[in-house]
Amino acid sequence: MYDLIIIGAGPAGVAAGIYAVRQQLSILVISKDIGGQVAKKAVDIENYPGFEKISGPDLVELYKKQIKANELEVITNEEVVSVEVKGEREKVKGNFLVKTKSGKMYESIAVINTSGAESKLINVPGEEEFSGKGVSYCSLCDGPVFKNKIVAVVGGGNNGFESALFLSNYVPKIYILEYNDKVNADAENQELVAKNPNIEIITNAQVARIEGKVFVNAIVYKDRVSGEEKKLNVAGVFVEIGYSPATSFLNGLVELNEKQEVIFNPETLETKTPGLFSAGDCNVSRYKQIVMASGEGAKAALSAYNYIKKNK
Ligand SMILES: Cc1cc2nc3c(=O)[nH]c(=O)nc-3n(C[C@H](O)[C@H](O)[C@H](O)COP(=O)(O)OP(=O)(O)OC[C@H]3O[C@@H](n4cnc5c(N)ncnc54)[C@H](O)[C@@H]3O)c2cc1C
Repeated sequence: MYDLIIIGAGPAGVAAGIYAVRQQLSILVISKDIGGQVAKKAVDIENYPGFEKISGPDLVELYKKQIKANELEVITNEEVVSVEVKGEREKVKGNFLVKTKSGKMYESIAVINTSGAESKLINVPGEEEFSGKGVSYCSLCDGPVFKNKIVAVVGGGNNGFESALFLSNYVPKIYILEYNDKVNADAENQELVAKNPNIEIITNAQVARIEGKVFVNAIVYKDRVSGEEKKLNVAGVFVEIGYSPATSFLNGLVELNEKQEVIFNPETLETKTPGLFSAGDCNVSRYKQIVMASGEGAKAALSAYNYIKKNK
């Protein structure tokens, strides 16, 4: 039996571990990998305080060093498939049973879920090849890199519109490509975009492929009305069609919004189940960034400590 099990070892999970270990708790971290989305970030991170520039893999190496220095017990290459409250669900003050894909079972007084999210892909030729070489899933992270270049944003929802508005601080021209005949962003975002002469919305646009040599130089889409293929010469493609939070294994222990993000108490990061905390990109939040995930992880660890102290 552990005091605390942390699910996931991305920025939120690592921060939760570092904070929890200082509270002298017995902790187990179970994760598919170390670093989460950061491990996939090939180009530099330039908005994490303390580092003018650091690549994803370099930051992950630092996470690993810090995990070792703190003697945190981490099981990697393992997936949590369910979390249950021991005994009757209604008796929510029970201990937790965490089951993994390899058939192991672990018990703890409290759980912090930091299972993160993955950006949805458009699944077209060139997307994977040019990921980090012009294809980005995070305008806040990568926007400044495209200064003075022409870019496309795929997705006419709030994410796409807010990305385009942010990018307009840096670039002279932005195309928003929307698959449907109407965009889906809310009225406020539509008004802001309408006032911005640098943003052009193209509806009925089905992205066909992303082209380039070493880096992206064009996006090709099919006009769903005329059937014609059209090419836009762009240096960047921002895919903004939403996230898939990894929350399905939480078995009704947490309340989810329509995007399957975890709803939590903002003061404590606790979910509707006492003793089950949630932090990072899997949570309801408008912005998904390393600094925010880390902050939530730290906060959840301190709240979990208070919970464990009262319930041990
Ligand atoms: C390409 C790219 C570039 C980015 N660039 C930046 C940037 O420059 N600056 C910035 O601030 N942010 C950036 N971000 C966003 C940032 O990476 C995320 O906000 C951050 O990683 C979220 O941290 P997290 O710990 O909440 O989730 P994640 O990083 O998603 O980590 C989740 C962890 O949980 C594990 N996991 C998931 N499900 C299970 C399960 N069932 N069982 C066990 N383990 C599980 C995963 O393996 C992973 O270790 C970028 C994201 C991407 C994709």
